[in-house]
Amino acid sequence: MNVLKLVVLGLIVAPQGEPEFESDPPIACSACDGWNQAREPFRIYGNAYYVGTEGLSSVLITTEDGLILIDGALPQSAALIDRNIRKLGFRTEDVRFILNSHMHFDHAGGIAALARASDATVVSSPAGAKALSKGSATEDDPQFAWADTDGFPPVEDVRTVRDGETLKVGDQALTVHFTPGHTPGGTTWTWRSCEEERCVDMVYADSLSAVSAPGFRFTGDSTHPSRVDGFRETIAKVEALPCDIMVAAHPGFTKLFDNFERGSQEGGNARFIDPDSCRAYTAAARTALDKRIAEER
Ligand SMILES: [Zn+2]
Repeated sequence: MNVLKLVVLGLIVAPQGEPEFESDPPIACSACDGWNQAREPFRIYGNAYYVGTEGLSSVLITTEDGLILIDGALPQSAALIDRNIRKLGFRTEDVRFILNSHMHFDHAGGIAALARASDATVVSSPAGAKALSKGSATEDDPQFAWADTDGFPPVEDVRTVRDGETLKVGDQALTVHFTPGHTPGGTTWTWRSCEEERCVDMVYADSLSAVSAPGFRFTGDSTHPSRVDGFRETIAKVEALPCDIMVAAHPGFTKLFDNFERGSQEGGNARFIDPDSCRAYTAAARTALDKRIAEER
């Protein structure tokens, strides 16, 4: 059989020796097809690789003791992520931990299938674990009113971590930073990746956008207190993280792909080192939150 995967009657047949990837049913949304465009995987820096789609990030981190994956994008993205991992020469079955920036269908939707394929442990904040095991935004989520239509495949058995806790896998340590605001349970993850003698500070940044379903007020109402102070603390927290390379949950929110394109001229993965992009991300989030607060008032 040809090494290329064959699409037969809608089923993806894996090349010989590779397990067939079992996807969950796709979710339809106005932006979904654009977000889910396939993208070739690439090395970001050292042991960190981009394995997501054009519009939804997923990052693979390799260690001497197995793989770590951050975010699963949409249910229909999971097979693309699996394929990207294999294209890089790694195996989805070797993923030991799956982390999640936040518990919306476009970042958590593919996790259940990726966890089935790998038997990986899914790791989240306690608030995030509630949403993951339910398979939808929780009542305290600004987008809860959309939860009926924005549900995603639930994830059983989520391991919870404390804010600031470090997850150690082989020679790699990743630190979790709780970043509530966009969702109650969102997390941002940091680690160091090295190439030859240089190590850099990597940040996988949660969404920091003050987006809600109609009727929700970040400034609070009779059903819940203001979220403004907490959201500002989250933005300041992400802003203060040591950051050489940031991957945001939506890759277009930083210059990751622009810096990838620069490679053909300059070569090497130093092209991804871009602290200005880290600062621009939090500055834009603060401006957008201020605008939202002004609109609510
Ligand atoms: Zn979201």
